[in-house]
Amino acid sequence: MSDVLIVGGGLAGLTSAILLQKNGYQVRLIEKKNYPFHRVCGEYISNEVLPFLESLDIGISGLGTSRINRLAVTSVSGKMLQADLDLGGFGISRFKLDHLLYQHAESLGVEFIFEKVIDLVFTEEKFKVSTSGNKVFESGIAIAAYGKRSNLDQKLTRNFFYKRSPYLGVKYHIKTDLPGNLIRLDNFQGGYCGVSKIEDDKYCLCYLSETANLKKYSGIPEMEEQVLFRNPHLRNLFKNSEFLFEKPEVINEISFEQKTLTENHLLFCGDSAGMITPLCGNGMAIAIHSGKILAESIMRFAKKGSDINRTALEQDYTLRWKKQFALRLKSGRLIQKLFGSTFVSDMAVYTLNQFPSLTESLVKKTHGEVFM
Ligand SMILES: Cc1cc2nc3c(=O)[nH]c(=O)nc-3n(C[C@H](O)[C@H](O)[C@H](O)COP(=O)(O)OP(=O)(O)OC[C@H]3O[C@@H](n4cnc5c(N)ncnc54)[C@H](O)[C@@H]3O)c2cc1C
Repeated sequence: MSDVLIVGGGLAGLTSAILLQKNGYQVRLIEKKNYPFHRVCGEYISNEVLPFLESLDIGISGLGTSRINRLAVTSVSGKMLQADLDLGGFGISRFKLDHLLYQHAESLGVEFIFEKVIDLVFTEEKFKVSTSGNKVFESGIAIAAYGKRSNLDQKLTRNFFYKRSPYLGVKYHIKTDLPGNLIRLDNFQGGYCGVSKIEDDKYCLCYLSETANLKKYSGIPEMEEQVLFRNPHLRNLFKNSEFLFEKPEVINEISFEQKTLTENHLLFCGDSAGMITPLCGNGMAIAIHSGKILAESIMRFAKKGSDINRTALEQDYTLRWKKQFALRLKSGRLIQKLFGSTFVSDMAVYTLNQFPSLTESLVKKTHGEVFM
């Protein structure tokens, strides 16, 4: 039995675990993979999280991360838009960042179990969580921080699981010679690709594509040749870079549907509560911020040693989550419609080039306020 049980050790789960453990809760976190590991992610993280990460004292500024303050967007045919990023961000690999947070959580006393959760039920005022290793754990509070889509969504019969999610994500680390302060988003038919610098003079190249693109070809290399390379900037990038992975990290079934924040007293955070489209480059910041908000709601309404006020806890978290993120997720879904087709992306780049203040306002809509 633990006070809080967290399923999933990405940025959302690790943030909640760290804050709750620091505040006297006994936290158990169950993660199906062993750290460190690569994830499909563009690895550009908005500066809104920097003060918070610095406050954790995990040495974030000594990691050789890159500072990013310029944005370039190219249309499918190669037309380019450039803009300053007011708030900006930095680049860091998930391999490094998640590992660092895991080590910090463990040093605080969070108990880690490296197994897959296969079932999770709420009964008699507590959660019972079963794992692939035939273990059963119990807790008063359970957080679902298991990412965009998991076996558990099906178990919990969450609505979005049954809707089409026709996207796949592909990621590489590369060495190339783009400016270190730039994040570039290159459109291609049915998707877009982001490239920006991370630590150790490496760059992260990550793209989101409609799954239909892959179905037309024999595999990822042929799809890249036939679809991505029609954008001349992408062709140059792929042809003139050194690829550091033997094969790319790939995920599919990416869904941007609205999701529920609580279900039968289970509390969702990070991508499992709602995922922003990757072109906004803010899923990591939202995962960290939602993990923090959830930990704070728990500290308010499930004080150690007293009864858990589940109704107040769920209302407080839902209200604060919606205030912070609902509009950003909606804007992300709308802005994504400007991407991924030749005509619309050409028009978008042309129009935004004429009206720089419109670009600034679109970027602002997807970024949040700096928080501690
Ligand atoms: C193509 C693409 C590009 C992106 N680019 C960016 C970007 O540049 N910047 C940005 O800020 N965001 C980006 N994002 C979004 C960002 O990656 C996510 O929003 C973020 O990782 C969410 O964190 P999380 O903690 O909610 O989930 P995750 O990081 O996915 O963590 C969930 C964890 O749960 C574990 N898990 C799942 N099921 C189980 C189970 N049954 N039992 C135990 N463990 C389980 C998984 O192994 C995983 O470690 C991108 C996303 C995609 C798809």
